Amino acid sequence: MTRSKNRPLIISDCDGVLLEFIAPFVAYLDSVHDMTLKLDTFALTGNVRHRDGRVVEAAAFPPLLDGFFSTHMPSQNPVAGAADSLARLAAYCDVVVLTNIADHHALRRTDELARLGMPYRVIGNQGSKGGPIKALLDEFQPSHAVFIDDLPPNHSSAKDHVPHVHCIHMVAETPLRGLIPAAPHADIRIDDWHEALPHIETLLKGLS
Ligand SMILES: [Mg+2]
Repeated sequence: MTRSKNRPLIISDCDGVLLEFIAPFVAYLDSVHDMTLKLDTFALTGNVRHRDGRVVEAAAFPPLLDGFFSTHMPSQNPVAGAADSLARLAAYCDVVVLTNIADHHALRRTDELARLGMPYRVIGNQGSKGGPIKALLDEFQPSHAVFIDDLPPNHSSAKDHVPHVHCIHMVAETPLRGLIPAAPHADIRIDDWHEALPHIETLLKGLS
């Protein structure tokens, strides 16, 4: 792989940042499992219920998620502005998608994102993201790096491992905006790609 050194590096989460997750997952639960998801708190486990109101136990949740990614990933629509923003940044930045998804789904996710105009390298991760971000910085040796994610713990982990990375807390899905808590370790909260793109461009211009 040929790659020019010292370009800026954009590291983006996928679910809730590049692709919508909640609406297609709710549709999947309804159509395939006759279940509902009512988000009163920001937790998927505990909020999934059978039609009769019984809570789906936590142990049953991972197979539901696995089933969704196995058969319903194509129902995940792109977040508005994500593909265009990344395309613009990719003209002078490297772009990597760092997504918490099982390895066997990462390849399909790569194809799915490419189909939606986001033909970037996808890394399937488990758990905290600071370590993998550090590994990407070691690999790319970027001039600057920006990390975008909707979950506060991922920003805390990033700041632990690579405090100089610029962290954008983006909650692109409106149903989650009031539920996901603030991310104290992110540098800024921007929920919309139409605002995130000029922010990143201004930031990289100022740093170059
Ligand atoms: Mg996410």
